[in-house]
Amino acid sequence: MSTNPQARSWIRVRADALKQNFSRLRDEVGPETRIIPMVKADGYGLGVKQTVRTLQAEDPWGWGVATADEGLELREIGVEDPIIVFCPLTGESLDRALSGDLQLTVSSLMGLDEVITRAYKLDRKPHVHVDINTGMGRTGFDWRVASSWLPRLQEAASDSINWVGFFTHLHSADEDELSVHNQWSRLQEVLAQLKNPPDGLMVHLLNSSGLFRTPDYAAAAVRPGIFLYGGEVGVDQPSPVPLVSLHARVIHVGEVSEGYTLGYGATYRADGPERWATLGIGYGDGLPRSLGNRGSAFLGGVRVPIIGRISMDMTVVNITDVPKVAVGDIATLIGANGPERITVDDVAELAGTISYEVLTGFTDRLPRVWTGLNGS
Ligand SMILES: *Cc1c(COP(=O)(O)O)cnc(C)c1O
Repeated sequence: MSTNPQARSWIRVRADALKQNFSRLRDEVGPETRIIPMVKADGYGLGVKQTVRTLQAEDPWGWGVATADEGLELREIGVEDPIIVFCPLTGESLDRALSGDLQLTVSSLMGLDEVITRAYKLDRKPHVHVDINTGMGRTGFDWRVASSWLPRLQEAASDSINWVGFFTHLHSADEDELSVHNQWSRLQEVLAQLKNPPDGLMVHLLNSSGLFRTPDYAAAAVRPGIFLYGGEVGVDQPSPVPLVSLHARVIHVGEVSEGYTLGYGATYRADGPERWATLGIGYGDGLPRSLGNRGSAFLGGVRVPIIGRISMDMTVVNITDVPKVAVGDIATLIGANGPERITVDDVAELAGTISYEVLTGFTDRLPRVWTGLNGS
């Protein structure tokens, strides 16, 4: 196992697993469909630079981000591929996105007008993907009233914008296939009303779960995120290769007798003589606090329970049944122990959330230690 000798806790990320997950997606959609890896929120918290460097070898069509800054960060590291910003932008961030040659998404006529005005001032012709709201609700032109916005959009498309794409976002592909069919039909309804759509207009809607559930809807491009990063995409769907493991060192070992209490609120009390090991990780690192008295870790080859409340910087496990544990030993909070495994999804479920929030919740205090990177 590769470790960082200075760190008290860290995340290990396997570049080879990221590549395998990409290949799995590629196999699913075939060679013709463009793949747009979503690398927003620092590559789902794992490190966008390493993610892009790893996936560039697989030759994706472009990249998906959420903000202008995320797109510009990719430009700074030399990414020349198309980069699509999936949240609507206004004002100064829109100017910066245009200056960085980022592709934009528009969700309203007002948004479209601002894009056109600002692009004109900067002497640019913006690359635009039109967002259609087919049920997600948070952004996009309303699919039911295309006649109220489509004519203006088509007019703009003929002179002031490069109309690159047309897309929607799925709300329940991980659990409800019917909803995907409905959203697809709504998108098709709008598409059918286009007069002289631009050549090669790129239609895209599938996220990771949609991609496995309804690969027939892959259209021109797909936008996978969580599967690449090792998150499950629904029951009875393929599992990704895990690429993340989370480790923390033992920073203290203590022996206690019956009645000793542990942590804030003294929510744990020793039943008899026990041994406790304190790990150098807490919710300040992004370990969900709700794992207190519920989660577990691997230490000394054994699964040990997290006891007491997790504090900002420390977490305690019960090592009464583990013969030899010393300060400096490494515990695994996500990862494998022989055939046993604690996955990101296991942690998310225990914490009452989703893998996405667990991954993006890890803070800067935790080094991301990548293994198997190209050229390293
Ligand atoms: C985040 C995001 C995705 C990726 O979704 P996953 O469920 O992580 O695969 C796709 N499209 C858009 C617009 C997104 O914001």
